[in-house]
Amino acid sequence: MSVLTLNCGSSSVKYSVYEPARRAFLARGVVERVGSADAFLKEKRGERELRLEEAAPDHVAAVRLVLRALGEGEDAPARDPRAIRAVGHRAVHGGERFAQSALITDELVRTLEELSVLAPLHNPPNLAGIRAAQALLPGVPQVAVFDTAFHQSMPRAAYLYALPLAWYERHGIRRYGFHGTSHLYVSRRAAVVLGRPLAELRLVTLHIGNGASAAAVLGGRSVDTSMGFTPLEGLVMGTRSGSIDPAIPLYVMEREQLSVAQMDKQLNKQSGLLGLTGRFNDRRDIEAAAAQGDEGCRLAIELECRALSKTIGAYAAVMGGLDAVVFTAGVGENSALIRARALQGLGFLGVRLDEEKNQAARGGKAELDIAAPGSRVRVLVIPTNEELVIAEDTLGIVEGRFGQPGFRYSFE
Ligand code: AMP
Repeated sequence: MSVLTLNCGSSSVKYSVYEPARRAFLARGVVERVGSADAFLKEKRGERELRLEEAAPDHVAAVRLVLRALGEGEDAPARDPRAIRAVGHRAVHGGERFAQSALITDELVRTLEELSVLAPLHNPPNLAGIRAAQALLPGVPQVAVFDTAFHQSMPRAAYLYALPLAWYERHGIRRYGFHGTSHLYVSRRAAVVLGRPLAELRLVTLHIGNGASAAAVLGGRSVDTSMGFTPLEGLVMGTRSGSIDPAIPLYVMEREQLSVAQMDKQLNKQSGLLGLTGRFNDRRDIEAAAAQGDEGCRLAIELECRALSKTIGAYAAVMGGLDAVVFTAGVGENSALIRARALQGLGFLGVRLDEEKNQAARGGKAELDIAAPGSRVRVLVIPTNEELVIAEDTLGIVEGRFGQPGFRYSFE
């Protein structure tokens, strides 16, 4: 029996099949171009790659394609769909209603629909995925694992903005934070790698991918995070601005006669590293161009790393000290340059990097401590594994163990 995880975006469905008995993923894959006639599926089973091409006009067709792929071949991860014990869905926005993962009921679906106003780009495809899985796997329990849940432990002073309090009460304007599943995973793994109880650790976890966020994790609980009401706030990202003076969009909208939708696009899709360089949002391109002497790309790296370093310093202040900085996701796991630059000015906090170890940490699945031997603050590179959290939450909920006092993840 296995758990199917689904992460449904507007035009893609990422999935994995986890077998708890072997503590292993039998397959991981993605359907791309959902909503079009030329959708395709790519799946990895160990070293083997499978590719299927088929029209997928909607999420039902995409999930049907996933189930077909899982039934194919000698090594089919789920030849009979009845082998799927439960489905775990990545759900982006749980608002204040969900501080942890939950079994999907009709009521939960209604709540997600209500929360779509807060995450208009993310919750509707998540809902489409839930409905598709319910239709294609009737009777199989489904669980929602929220990106916001891990950050629900933030104190009021961290999640409120200095805005009219009525906006919070009327519209739910507050910091929610995202990437919670990833911050949860890497913070728990950090305790294992450091060989210390999570309860005594002050961690800054940095999820740096195309989107990027930082979290201050004190004793295993998120006490602050850089993404806010939406995933637009905080660090400099691939195409998102991160934190700016809120007066800027008002000013530019007036000067350039932009609509709300146009400004939204500017801030979410045309800003960040893309906005600065005018060409790139992929860090590999930016690093390569910077190495060739491109000033715009050098500056973009400087802005990105300055935002990271300021955030680490701020979170050390929030937690009254720092035991480790944890890097994860595409950039965090691969870019020695960004890691080194982000930590450059933090010697005063007791952060010292081992440059050789830092250079060697790229692209692997290994968990590494890349701090210099005498560094007071440890620096870890930990590949994230959101699917594992989704699979284990799902299984824990289906088996009635999740949320009970003795519940533990296999990876902690
Ligand atoms: P993610 O959203 O976690 O998939 O991360 C995507 C980002 O990781 C992209 O901006 C990639 O350029 C970046 N990335 C992946 N590999 C590398 C690498 N070797 N060096 C620098 N950045 C990388």
